[in-house]
Amino acid sequence: VAEVTEQGQKIERPAFGQHGAYTHSKNKKYDYLIVGCGFAGSVLAERLATQHGARVLMIDKRDHVAGNAYDEYNENGILYHKYGPHIFHANSDEIVSYLSQFTQWRPYEHRVLANVRDQLVPIPINRTTLNKLFDAGLKNDEEAAAFLASRSEPVAEIRTSEDVVINAVGRELYELFFQGYTRKQWGLDPSELDKQVTSRIPTRTNTDDRYFTDTHQIMPLHGYTKMFEKMLDHPLIDKQLGTDFRDVRNDIDAAHIIYTGPIDEYFDWRFGKLPYRSLRFVHSTIDKEQFQPVAVVNYPDTETPYTRISEYKHMTGQEHARTTITLEYPSAEGDPYYPIPRPENQLLFKKYEALADSTSGVTFVGRLATYRYYNMDQIVGQALATFRRMDEARARFSGK
Ligand code: FAD
Ligand code: UDP
Repeated sequence: VAEVTEQGQKIERPAFGQHGAYTHSKNKKYDYLIVGCGFAGSVLAERLATQHGARVLMIDKRDHVAGNAYDEYNENGILYHKYGPHIFHANSDEIVSYLSQFTQWRPYEHRVLANVRDQLVPIPINRTTLNKLFDAGLKNDEEAAAFLASRSEPVAEIRTSEDVVINAVGRELYELFFQGYTRKQWGLDPSELDKQVTSRIPTRTNTDDRYFTDTHQIMPLHGYTKMFEKMLDHPLIDKQLGTDFRDVRNDIDAAHIIYTGPIDEYFDWRFGKLPYRSLRFVHSTIDKEQFQPVAVVNYPDTETPYTRISEYKHMTGQEHARTTITLEYPSAEGDPYYPIPRPENQLLFKKYEALADSTSGVTFVGRLATYRYYNMDQIVGQALATFRRMDEARARFSGK
């Protein structure tokens, strides 16, 4: 239950009675209704059930847990990711050790190649990329840095996703690697997107061809879904899958709601639609052992309608005579996958956020509800921080 203090700060007053036990006095069947069984909802369900002894009902409109991280074995027995490739990487030991309660891991370093000028070259752009594309003969970091400096067009104030790349590598490489891909992926030119989008991709002068440099680069040994099943296997957690919050919001008996769906939908789009970008995933299984040399190949040209092809066996380590791949076709319609980082969308989100802050009894968490372009580890971190605040409020309230 949320309360607003005199300072206008929202505090969480947990749904439990004076003696610290979850209240039955209100005759609520559940202490929490959690909308969405992705990372945000599942971490909170696990924490509240195991640490607070709370009775939790989770719902999801999909017929499975794990949200966008859901994976399953297809009819050919190959483990694939239904909503596109999910690669786990994190710098936080705390987040990894939290998740390690529910899974073992396999080490996996992600590598991506871009199909540019009929060659497959490393992305992020590194010294190998430059040498392959321009036959530049760059022998060390200094030579690569000088090569990039001669091409870069310094931008005084970096605001947009175009500025980031032009400033780092100049226009030719920007057009080859970023402009077309971004226009396809977002339906917007990089100049219309906040700098945080292309800032996700560094530029390197060395030959490191890993997509990420995080200290933890690992995949759940038996897949994401198995990890979620273990996380949610608790007698105080009930699940109702294939259930849309919109259909049951007036029927469910819970003292507090944790909502991880799109925030504008919760408020019936009161201020207008908050844009989210969607994708169409086309999965297929091919009759050979390997389709491409690495897990992901990007297609930054504008003639190819998809942005990238992913091949799962590289990520999962599965051995199989056949292989499953996914093509990603960006789209304006469909399930909301990406908040679209640009100033006007942030302004609209802030209006919804203010409304959320003044709505008692509901906590908004996760990528869709907080409209943040967050990776899985960041969502786990956000959910753990949310739990910590609830835990502190509970301790304050019970005088412990
Ligand atoms: P979600 O996983 O989206 O879960 C929200 C859940 O709420 C969904 O299951 C949805 O069905 C449910 N829901 C929504 N509305 C309702 C409703 N009205 N009623 C009932 N249920 C509802 N992150 C990485 O770290 N590494 C990657 O490699 C990576 N790759 C990605 C690739 C793609 C194509 C996408 C789209 C995302 C990727 N991410 C990656 C990001 C990652 O998916 C998210 O950070 C993470 O899944 C967010 O978790 P969440 O719980 O906030 O949201
Ligand atoms: N990007 C690009 N070309 C690439 C890779 C990325 O233009 O080859 C841009 C594009 O705008 C993309 C963003 O950088 O949306 C972030 O890339 P990332 O691989 O992190 O995207 P995600 O995995 O979240 O879809």
